[in-house]
Amino acid sequence: MNLILLGPPGAGKGTQAKRLEAAHGIAQISTGDMLRAEVASGSPIGQQAKAIMEAGQLVPDALITEMLAKRIEAPDCAKGFILDGFPRTLAQAEALDAMLAAKGKSLDKVIELKVDDAALVARIAGRFACAKCGAGYHDTFKRPKVEGVCDVCGATEFTRRADDRAETVSARLEAYHKQTAPLLPYYAARGKLATVDGMAEMDEVTRQIEAVLAA
Ligand code: AMP
Repeated sequence: MNLILLGPPGAGKGTQAKRLEAAHGIAQISTGDMLRAEVASGSPIGQQAKAIMEAGQLVPDALITEMLAKRIEAPDCAKGFILDGFPRTLAQAEALDAMLAAKGKSLDKVIELKVDDAALVARIAGRFACAKCGAGYHDTFKRPKVEGVCDVCGATEFTRRADDRAETVSARLEAYHKQTAPLLPYYAARGKLATVDGMAEMDEVTRQIEAVLAA
């Protein structure tokens, strides 16, 4: 099963993608996570991407498309994948179609997580993650059960993304509306698009996604 989760930053794509990965045994592919790993390692790709990401803009299509093409060759993608944060432009969507067609594969569903812009700034500005296992938390909506200790792995170090600062969030939302939102009609025209209510409780969003997949 090959899926795309589509939605603005803070819509909950990462959370839902991790749940789908666990429930269906298909690989979560977050291009944002891949880029952050490149930045952390100081690789040539990371050096090229760092300033662009911190400005809340999109890295060049060619760079990200090449990275994704390699990633979907990995053995953990044999049963399928959930793309979280890719494609973000029409050029990327077209490149993905060509990549899959060349392998005799196709997309099963594109699931839009629909949320109000007003809710996104609050969601994004408060989020943090376990530095060891990556489990996601939020200052207001989801604090660890024991303060300062990760619920999942017990680690005590947490990180915040450099681009989650309030001043960068508006640039990221603008990039979504200008460059990524045109993918909604693109996939609707191909009969692939389903929309779920990203404003609902996390478990309800998961339920709606599973209902789409079972339909
Ligand atoms: P994310 O974690 O998906 O919010 O991505 C964080 C940042 O990485 C974005 O704001 C972009 O700068 C960059 N990025 C991630 N995925 C892509 C993509 N598919 N195309 C272009 N830039 C991307």
